Amino acid sequence: MEKPTKTDARPGALNGIPDAGPGKEPSARGGQPAGLPRFLATFDIEDWFHAENVRSSLPTADWDELEARVERNAHEVLDILAEVGARSTFFVLGWIARKYPGLVRRIVDEGHEVASHTDRHLRLDMLPSFELARDLADCLASAGYWYDSSLFSFKAHDRYGRISAPVKPDDPVVEVRPGLFELQMTQVRVGPIAVPWSGGAYFRLIPYPVYRRGVARKLQATGWFMFYFHPWELDAEEKRLPRMPRSLKLRAYAGRGRMRKDLRRLVREFGSSRIDEALVSSGRTSQTAG
Ligand SMILES: [Zn+2]
Repeated sequence: MEKPTKTDARPGALNGIPDAGPGKEPSARGGQPAGLPRFLATFDIEDWFHAENVRSSLPTADWDELEARVERNAHEVLDILAEVGARSTFFVLGWIARKYPGLVRRIVDEGHEVASHTDRHLRLDMLPSFELARDLADCLASAGYWYDSSLFSFKAHDRYGRISAPVKPDDPVVEVRPGLFELQMTQVRVGPIAVPWSGGAYFRLIPYPVYRRGVARKLQATGWFMFYFHPWELDAEEKRLPRMPRSLKLRAYAGRGRMRKDLRRLVREFGSSRIDEALVSSGRTSQTAG
């Protein structure tokens, strides 16, 4: 059995199924989400210095000494969603929630779902006791989480993990334990290769007209698309760190200048749903719910 190397962990939200509302559909057909295509724009709420790309180049390990930029950037993300009337899931660091309770309040007040992005952005495979991650899915389930969205089955990527359960790259939602769903990052096939297409640097590196075509194609094929974004990706004014390896520099900073416009047109075109509501309305519920 393979060790899960889940990193940039997004263990989702604790049980507490919302009322699915008027769009509720009772069942999933043929292993695919039923009903209308669902574009799930999700946001990892962390500051620029939490990002893995810059971590090794930071001048200090004390986050309180670094310029805080997350509040302004996250409010801008919320403004864009409010403008187009889209609802989303926000994976918030515990560290951020303690420091900026007003930000979390606005996320909730505007109808979005709050989920966990861990407490301090630790990479689980770097924890002293890797045993913790060995049966991560069991840990998550017993802690009361009912979904997780950390998995990237693109093997060439050094940072995203695999889980000790068979997950096919094209299955948007997989029940890895009874009542625990893994929502993997969406990939789009380009010829024989499955290319990560779900957001982050990929959204910034792929030209928008090409990117949106991939999203539309995937939605048509599976009815489901996971997109993720970080508030710092909108921030073209963030001070660049010196002496960063070139590949990390590209991943960290490429395309930021166009993100405000492109995020807006992406959610305007495809809308967005909260993960919990999309799961419930496709007939998936946690066994311990209700
Ligand atoms: Zn993160």
